[in-house]
Amino acid sequence: TMDEARHVLAERFGYASFRPGQEALVEAVLEGRDVLGVMPTGAGKSLCYQVPGVAAHGMALVVSPLVSLMGDQVRSLLDAGVRGAYLNSTLTPGQQGTVMRRALEGAYDVMYVAPERLADPRFTDFAAQADIALVAVDEAHCVSQWGQDFRPSYLAVGDFIATLPARPPVCALTATATGRVRADITRLLGLRDPLVLVTGFDRPNLGFAVERLEPKRKIARIAARALASPAESGIVYCSTRKDVERVHEALVAAGVPATRYHAGLAKEERAANQRAFIDDDAPVMVATNAFGMGIDKSNVRYVIHHNLPGSMEAYYQEAGRAGRDGEPSECLLLWSDGDISTCRFFIEQESGNEELTPEEADAVRATRRRMLETMVGYCYTVDCLRGYILRYFGEPAEGGCGNCGNCTGGVEAVDVTAEARAVMRC
Ligand code: ADP
Ligand code: MG
Repeated sequence: TMDEARHVLAERFGYASFRPGQEALVEAVLEGRDVLGVMPTGAGKSLCYQVPGVAAHGMALVVSPLVSLMGDQVRSLLDAGVRGAYLNSTLTPGQQGTVMRRALEGAYDVMYVAPERLADPRFTDFAAQADIALVAVDEAHCVSQWGQDFRPSYLAVGDFIATLPARPPVCALTATATGRVRADITRLLGLRDPLVLVTGFDRPNLGFAVERLEPKRKIARIAARALASPAESGIVYCSTRKDVERVHEALVAAGVPATRYHAGLAKEERAANQRAFIDDDAPVMVATNAFGMGIDKSNVRYVIHHNLPGSMEAYYQEAGRAGRDGEPSECLLLWSDGDISTCRFFIEQESGNEELTPEEADAVRATRRRMLETMVGYCYTVDCLRGYILRYFGEPAEGGCGNCGNCTGGVEAVDVTAEARAVMRC
């Protein structure tokens, strides 16, 4: 029941209340209903299956592609007094046998498995006898070839669920799901009348703006912003290492305390530059998208994109590194026509994921072209930029936010949709 769930949340996890969305998902799962939760990274998706795993009779079986993180996830569960375990190829066959035997004795509340495991007869025999309160599918978008992280091994998840003797509720979770990916998740996992919940994408303290600039005017624009408040922390994203070098050099020459980060630098230099940025010794970071994963710097006041990113997912993830502390922060996207050709070039020449057949690789390229089109649409829209982002992620957004470049009237209100189409065709 929800009282038990709230008790588990407070006593085991030490949290006073559920975040938006968590409560509804937990409640539905405990009532036996399938759910699809779409929430951004860091929103707290794990609790949506961990809490029911503890509160319900039987365990949560969690399918996750992140084999390297399972050990850490289980360790933090154990620290909280939650009985966790994982089954993947890092364990010896003997250890795997022990984990399965103990699971049959009811020793676990939450058990992580890699998707590859689901086709293994030893595992399916085990699962048929185990007391499984729910199956959680983390990173559920991996089942769809219309996304960027398609994993053929995820196609086995739906069959696995269908063959469980007492079909438990399924809790599918993802941070990115367009309508098409969402439909794939529902169909390929065999979700039954799922509660679909999309929440938490809005970041009210971020002010979005887009400026179309000649390439040669971009650096001056960035330098002007940085010098307007030299002590403030900012990130400048560039699409290539060469641009990082160029922009970094120009900013330093203009007196901006900037550092840089890209995969072409030696490991030691990357680490040192990252540290200088985190410690505010060099408050401005110029980087490729290699920078940022797992970085939690709360006082980043602006994120400027020197080039157009390839998708709204990529843009929002990178821009979202501004203002983690909740203070007003800027997300400025600079773009020029040449950026679109560069993105297109990346898509066409990318050899792609080796797991993919040529047909699948074609499908992935087609998706990425569409994602780019949506990103270009963001540059051209005359409507509220925040609304454009939220609608893209499936969250309702009406009226203007009053806080983006378009709402505050920084641009001329002309309908350039036709022009956008022409640009996409060239
Ligand atoms: P996601 O999988 O959505 O990226 P996680 O499940 O890893 O996010 O959770 C991100 C962080 O949020 C974790 O540190 C987690 O402990 C914290 N968190 C989750 N739910 C709550 C809550 N209800 N109250 C406070 N913190 C929470
Ligand atoms: Mg997660």
